[in-house]
Amino acid sequence: MDTVSFPRMVELDTVTGLPPRKMLDHDLPLLLRSMGTSGLPMCSIMIDIDHFKIFNDKYGHDIGDLVLHHVSSLIRRAVKFRGEAYRYGGEEITVLMLNTTGSEGLATAERICLLIENSEVLAMVDGEELPLSVRISLGVASTDTVVGSELLVSSDRALYNAKGNGRNQAILFRNDRKQVVNTTIIDVHFPSRSAILGGSYILLKRWFSYSNPTEIEAREIKDPNHDSSEFAEGPTPPLGIVEAEIRGRVSKIERRGNHTYFKFEVKSYIIDLMIKYIQDTRNANR
Ligand code: GH3
Ligand code: MG
Ligand code: MG
Repeated sequence: MDTVSFPRMVELDTVTGLPPRKMLDHDLPLLLRSMGTSGLPMCSIMIDIDHFKIFNDKYGHDIGDLVLHHVSSLIRRAVKFRGEAYRYGGEEITVLMLNTTGSEGLATAERICLLIENSEVLAMVDGEELPLSVRISLGVASTDTVVGSELLVSSDRALYNAKGNGRNQAILFRNDRKQVVNTTIIDVHFPSRSAILGGSYILLKRWFSYSNPTEIEAREIKDPNHDSSEFAEGPTPPLGIVEAEIRGRVSKIERRGNHTYFKFEVKSYIIDLMIKYIQDTRNANR
């Protein structure tokens, strides 16, 4: 079987001294498969030299090449025990790191960022040695939070954010869809028979709370999946009914006579909003 060993003993790119893009394309699927089989995470760091064009424009293409080689060799050396650095294209470098979580990858990226910042390139300009300072931006992503097929694109997105955030820094890609959001269970009383089903997501459109926002009485339930609404009659409490939608998931339904009781799972931050709505409604009713 085709395997990958580091450092790569392949023909290296002449400007950077790094394995070229075609080796990255070759290695990445193999490494993803072997890390996946072992249940270990891997990490990608996308790196771009800040304002690189200025070196070319100010000192010429050869000095640009020198800067690119300097940055590349420092990076390759910095990751050699756990991965490899490839020339992604132009002045962009991709590092793949094995058995590395997002936070470990971010720590490495921050270390590389400082390493470059504290380094100096000596360029011969008009017969004189001129120290140039170089900065880079880095984006990190790891398979502990993104799927393998999205590893490069996610680290590239993080790199884009690092550029936008002022350059000379490393940013870890965060997959918001996967971020855990805490939920809170609310007890709901609906003074009518309801056809809602356990497990469904519904909206409470009119409701009030006597004292505690985790125990509420609902007066209108909307099921967006069936585009239907159910209403319940009853005396309006002195402190008023709140008309603010709460979305959540129904569980544990109990139907007693003409009443329906259920547990309602909502995002915890909704509770803060509910307290605010209740207070606002009370103030308006005063
Ligand atoms: P940013 O901070 O936004 O990345 O700005 P930048 O100037 O680094 O980015 P831009 O993409 O505008 O410029 C990259 C330049 O890198 C343009 C291209 O001519 C130059 N370049 C690409 N490959 C090489 C190379 O092998 N050698 C040299 N000397 N220049 C290169
Ligand atoms: Mg670039
Ligand atoms: Mg650049």
